[in-house]
Amino acid sequence: MSAAPPPEPSGGKRICVVGSGIAGLTAAFLLSAEHHVTLLERAPSLGMDQSSVSFAGGRIDVPLRTFNLEYYPNLSSLYRELGVEFGVADYSFCSFERGSPGAYFKFYNLIDPLLGKLFGVEKMSLPVISLSTLRFVGEYVRFVWAGPRDLRSGACKGLSFKQYCAARYSSGFYWRILMPWLSVVCTCTFAAVGNYPAEILLDYVCGRTGSVFSNSMQRASSGTAHVVQCFAKRCQRVLLGCSVTDVIPKSAARPRVGVAWTDAAGKTFVEEFDEVVLATQANAALESLSRHCTEETRECLGAVTYERNTTVLHVDEAILPLAFNDRSAVNLALAADLSASDCTIWMNKVDSTMACLEKDVYQTWNPICAIAPDKVVAKFEFERPVLTLASESALERLQRVNGKHGVWFVGAYSLYTMPLLESGVRSSIRVANKLLAMKRVEHGGVLRELYGDGAGQEPVAPGKGALGVALAVVGVCAVIVMTVTNR
Ligand SMILES: Cc1cc2nc3c(=O)[nH]c(=O)nc-3n(C[C@H](O)[C@H](O)[C@H](O)COP(=O)(O)OP(=O)(O)OC[C@H]3O[C@@H](n4cnc5c(N)ncnc54)[C@H](O)[C@@H]3O)c2cc1C
Repeated sequence: MSAAPPPEPSGGKRICVVGSGIAGLTAAFLLSAEHHVTLLERAPSLGMDQSSVSFAGGRIDVPLRTFNLEYYPNLSSLYRELGVEFGVADYSFCSFERGSPGAYFKFYNLIDPLLGKLFGVEKMSLPVISLSTLRFVGEYVRFVWAGPRDLRSGACKGLSFKQYCAARYSSGFYWRILMPWLSVVCTCTFAAVGNYPAEILLDYVCGRTGSVFSNSMQRASSGTAHVVQCFAKRCQRVLLGCSVTDVIPKSAARPRVGVAWTDAAGKTFVEEFDEVVLATQANAALESLSRHCTEETRECLGAVTYERNTTVLHVDEAILPLAFNDRSAVNLALAADLSASDCTIWMNKVDSTMACLEKDVYQTWNPICAIAPDKVVAKFEFERPVLTLASESALERLQRVNGKHGVWFVGAYSLYTMPLLESGVRSSIRVANKLLAMKRVEHGGVLRELYGDGAGQEPVAPGKGALGVALAVVGVCAVIVMTVTNR
């Protein structure tokens, strides 16, 4: 790694990637196979790992990011290629109302090799419920049953999630089950979840074969610090603590893209590149381009909206459910007025690599009640894009301007799908394929298949494969376990 401008590459182009979240890391890794890549990151460490914390004898990923094999085919194949080991995380969860004595919904991830062999999945997830919420099971089964059908038929097209659910499900199911769960996945308010396009959330929850029942959430076993090293190792030049202040696209008078940045000591640098990949959030990309941005690009990037959220790393167990038996790896607490929920992850329970932690450590996303200040280890603010029905056309237009004048846009926000690690990776594969001679396979998804965006996976047909069998098993087991555990 060197700060000095590199010599002109003998082959390939000089490419600058701005931002080292998952999208920037993917772009830098892929492009450095054929080009000379400079990776610029504003934070003092690689972006995806910038909030991780060393505490209680371990390194804790903040935020904890998990994935599954069904929804994240591009991320998981890249991890395998890079030698990033990953394994099953315990994502058992409970939902409880803040202040009430017991959980109203529990969902166990049973890691059972026998069941796994039988149904071809690594993990079985069994809902354990109390009698009072038995009615939600029927709605839940209907939700994952009808979702793929509505995706196929287009019945959910043009509807917000709130509109879609209003005509089909009870308000109890919507506010107590769907909202707390999806506001965690999207890390946003209930209102923003309700405004999401229904097809995006259905695609995530039940669009891919088996995803909702195998539900084998995975975590990179050696943590994010190792992940980022694997991605960056091939990159020719990595400059940390460097904030890009200006990007000047190519023009008739300027054959290359100009990039200006300031380092941690406040020194300014200006260099020229053949191509620049902006892997920052849309609002930061807009800021870097500032006065050089075309009206169309400004409109597309400006249409991406964000919600700020807070993550607190702490040791305050008072935030967990009151009943010890209800305490799960993931604990969703709903406010009594149903207006919001928070999510507390009990880090020690997530996977066996966390056994090294010397005390119980929790991370709470968007806390709705106070965490004892003397028990707070660290606090972070994140921004997360939120999609609405208006996002589809804005993001389609963004893809049309992508690459014009040597400036490319990648990031989890940039595709019309859930803004998660997978979309960050996919957006970078697409751009890399425009700049590489050796193309890379992009694994598709349901929305691509449905809306003519190239080849993709088949949406799951109701009752197909593991889904149908799992439904039956879940139904039977839920009743058995409920009988045993119901108080
Ligand atoms: C609490 C929480 C939990 C989450 N859990 C999951 C999960 O379990 N699974 C999952 O798939 N996703 C999860 N996500 C979402 C996931 O983290 C994001 O989708 C993903 O990290 C976005 O990656 P990105 O590369 O698009 O953007 P970012 O990670 O935002 O990367 C952009 C980078 O650009 C840098 N940058 C910005 N401006 C400049 C500049 N001017 N110059 C230089 N560098 C700059 C930033 O410092 C940053 O490193 C979670 C998010 C949150 C907030």
